[in-house]
Amino acid sequence: MSILIFADQAHGKIKKAALEAVQYGSKVAAQLGTTATALVLGPADNAELATLGNYGATKVLHVADARLQEVESTVYTKIIVEAADKEGAAVIVFPHNFDGKAVAPRVAARLKAGLVAGAVSYPDTANGFVVKKNVFSGKAFANVNITSERKVITLTPNTYPAVAGAGTATVEAFAAAIHDADFKVKVVRTETVSGDIPLTEAEIIVSGGRGLKGPENWGILEDLAKALGAATASSRPVADAGWRPHHEHVGQTGLTVRPNLYVAIGISGAIQHLAGVNGSKVIVVINKDPEAPFFKAADYGIVGDAFEVVPKLTAAVKEFKG
Ligand code: FAD
Repeated sequence: MSILIFADQAHGKIKKAALEAVQYGSKVAAQLGTTATALVLGPADNAELATLGNYGATKVLHVADARLQEVESTVYTKIIVEAADKEGAAVIVFPHNFDGKAVAPRVAARLKAGLVAGAVSYPDTANGFVVKKNVFSGKAFANVNITSERKVITLTPNTYPAVAGAGTATVEAFAAAIHDADFKVKVVRTETVSGDIPLTEAEIIVSGGRGLKGPENWGILEDLAKALGAATASSRPVADAGWRPHHEHVGQTGLTVRPNLYVAIGISGAIQHLAGVNGSKVIVVINKDPEAPFFKAADYGIVGDAFEVVPKLTAAVKEFKG
């Protein structure tokens, strides 16, 4: 019996959310008195794979096949199920990101395993196998007991930030039985449509709403984001109006983000927006209306005109950083 963690990578680099999942899976393994194996699909060099030992994995299974560079859910499912059987994995952990969300339910179905999607706690094994997750857009928690023999968990990013330790892992090539015919869809081209930092991986996000009046004013937000090393996001009406691309919109109908710092500029703080951002560690709100609902969710608030406040904030950040 062991714990298997799906550690997804992009261009050979293990994603931040995957490091968190490996660390989480390793702690679950320790809880259950067993060991954690990480599974990496697609090309990645040995040094990168070995770093997973720093997050608690004792073994890394690697399928280097270049066809796995892009996620193909059916093929990924097949390999993960094969690895889970090989390892005798009782619990399979995924990051709750695009890749994890696409593959985990399929793996759970194949293994006839119960699934908790978006876990925010370690399992309570004193009372079965109870895992806490967010429900109703983060307004409440559900404590879910997974009663099936095998269990699948997707871990909400930024719940337990990954901290590198001094552990080591052995890296083992895994010859999964996959054939060209298994690939039902092929990615023919990928296009980068946003900045360098994916929103779901970002530590800092600077986000703008209708208070910025129009797309021509986004420069002040981008300057602040650049100074902070942040990704940029928006409210939904901003994306609906075509001021910003839709993949930047956060909230109930957009992305759920959990950065360490979320700076909201000219956003009212409607419940549907908060649903996507209220897991942020620190929220800073800049709004000229002192009654804006966002201030109730804010850790720090600045009542003022964004066009005056934001350039001053950017200058202060630049000065602070030297
Ligand atoms: P507004 O509500 O227009 O607020 C603009 C804010 O800017 C105001 O608070 C104002 O005081 C402030 N402001 C104006 N000028 C300045 C200035 N110069 N300086 C500083 N502040 C200024 N919304 C989302 O964001 N994400 C979602 O996923 C989402 N899903 C939805 C799903 C459903 C089913 C529904 C019904 C709605 C959804 N919405 C979503 C829309 C949501 O209800 C709000 O309408 C939306 O979030 C408001 O966007 P906003 O704050 O940018 O704009």
